[in-house]
Amino acid sequence: MKFDWLIVGAGYSACVLAERIATQLGLRVLIVEKRNHIGGNAYDYYNEHGILVHKYGPHIFHTKSSKVWHYLSQFTEWRPYYHHVLGVVEGKKIPIPFNLNSLYDLFPPRYAEKLEDLLLENFGFGVKVPILKLRENTNSSLDFLANYIYENVFLNYTLKQWGMKPEELDKNVTGRVPIYISRDNRYFQDPYQAMPKLGYTEMFSRMLFHPNIKLLLNTKYQEIIDDVKFDRLIYTGPIDEFFDYMHGELPYRSLRFQFETLDQEWYQEVCQVNYPNDYEITRITEQKYFSGHPSPKTTLVMEFPEAYVPGKNDPYYPILNEANRNRLSLYTSEVEKLKKSVCFVGRLADYKYYDMDQAVLRALHVFEKSVVNSTE
Ligand code: FAD
Ligand code: UDP
Repeated sequence: MKFDWLIVGAGYSACVLAERIATQLGLRVLIVEKRNHIGGNAYDYYNEHGILVHKYGPHIFHTKSSKVWHYLSQFTEWRPYYHHVLGVVEGKKIPIPFNLNSLYDLFPPRYAEKLEDLLLENFGFGVKVPILKLRENTNSSLDFLANYIYENVFLNYTLKQWGMKPEELDKNVTGRVPIYISRDNRYFQDPYQAMPKLGYTEMFSRMLFHPNIKLLLNTKYQEIIDDVKFDRLIYTGPIDEFFDYMHGELPYRSLRFQFETLDQEWYQEVCQVNYPNDYEITRITEQKYFSGHPSPKTTLVMEFPEAYVPGKNDPYYPILNEANRNRLSLYTSEVEKLKKSVCFVGRLADYKYYDMDQAVLRALHVFEKSVVNSTE
C-alpha cells in the first residue's frame, strides 16, 4: 500500500494534520509513533484506581483562539475548568500568579495597602507585569516587592526547573506567569478554558478515526522509512535528531514524574501547589480536579526536573536562549535545503515552547499554507 503522507509522531501536531489531510483532501496517511500510545505529551489514561491521569505532567487547555476552540470542539465535549495554583512562600500558600490577594496574604494589611497603591499608580489595575520588568522599576518600595517576589517565587523554582536563573532564559519563560495586578486568582484569563470531557486521548482517538488514517505504534520512523512507500513527509519529532545531530544537540529540559495514590478523597485545596523554595520538586498536581470524577482515592503527580539525556528520558522543554537559537538556525538552514519536501511541525520540530493551542494553530497553518499547496 502506498500512502500520500507519512507523519512522524502522534501528538497534537500530527493528529491535527492527519485529520485535515484525511477529511479535507481525501488522502491516505500513515502515522508512525515510537511510544505505545497516541496523544504525545498530552496523553491521559485511567490508572488502576479508575482516576484519569496525565502521564506527562498536567495539561490544562486554555486559548484565546476561537479557531482552535471550534476546531477541537468537533472531537470533544468540554468540562468547564479554571486552573488554580497556590505557591508555598514562607510557610503560607499564596495565589500564583502573584496578585493583589497574594500581597495581602503575605504582608501586614497597611503595608500591603501601600504596595497595592504603588502597583496601581505605576501600572494600573488589570495589568500583567513580568517579574523581570517589575525589577526594572526605580521606586524603593516597589523595588523591595520586586526582589521579594523574585527571590521567593521565581528564583529557586526556575533554578530547579531549568538549572538557570530567570535572567539567563528568554524573558518570555518567566513572563508566562506575570505578576497580575488584580484579585483574579485563576492561573489563566483566556476566554476559552476547559478540559476535554472524556480526556485528551479520547479526543485524539476521534480525530484519527477515519479509514484514510493508519497508525503504527511502538515504532521509530527510522525503522520503517526505507520500507514504506509514501509521497510526502511531515515530521514532528526533534529537529536535531532528524539531521543526526550534525550541528550538535539542541538542549532540552526533562522531568521525572512520581505518581502517588492516597486512600483519601482529596489532598490539597487546589489542583496545583508549587514549591518554589522547598524540596526537589517544583509542583504537585492532584489529578482528580481535571476530570471531576468522584473517587474515594486521589492521585498526585510530583515533578522532579532533570537534564535531558537522549535515549534516557524525554525532551520536554526547549531551552530558549541565544546560543540555542543560533544552533536552531543551523538546523533551519538544513530544512531549507530540503526544498519543502519535508514539513517540520510542532514543539520538537520547531524547537518552540508551544502550548497545546499554539501547536494546533501552527498545525492548521501548515495545513492551509503548505500541505494544501503541495497537493494541488
Ligand atoms: P509532542 O506531544 O511532543 O508529540 C511528538 C510525538 O513525536 C511524540 O509522541 C513522540 O513520541 C513522537 N516521536 C518523536 N520522535 C519520534 C521518532 N523518531 N519516531 C516516531 N515518533 C517519534 N500545553 C498547554 O497548553 N497547557 C499545559 O498545561 C501544558 N502542560 C505541559 C506540561 C508538560 C510537562 C509539557 C512537557 C508540556 C506541556 N504543554 C502544555 C505543552 C504540550 O504538551 C505541547 O504543546 C503539545 O504536546 C505539542 O504537541 P506536538 O505534537 O508538537 O509534540
Ligand atoms: N515560574 C516560577 N515560579 C512559579 C511558577 C512559574 O519561577 O511558581 C517560572 C518558571 O521559570 C517556569 C515558568 O515560570 O518554568 C513558566 O511557568 P509555567 O507554569 O507556565 O510552566 P509549565 O506549566 O509550562 O511547566
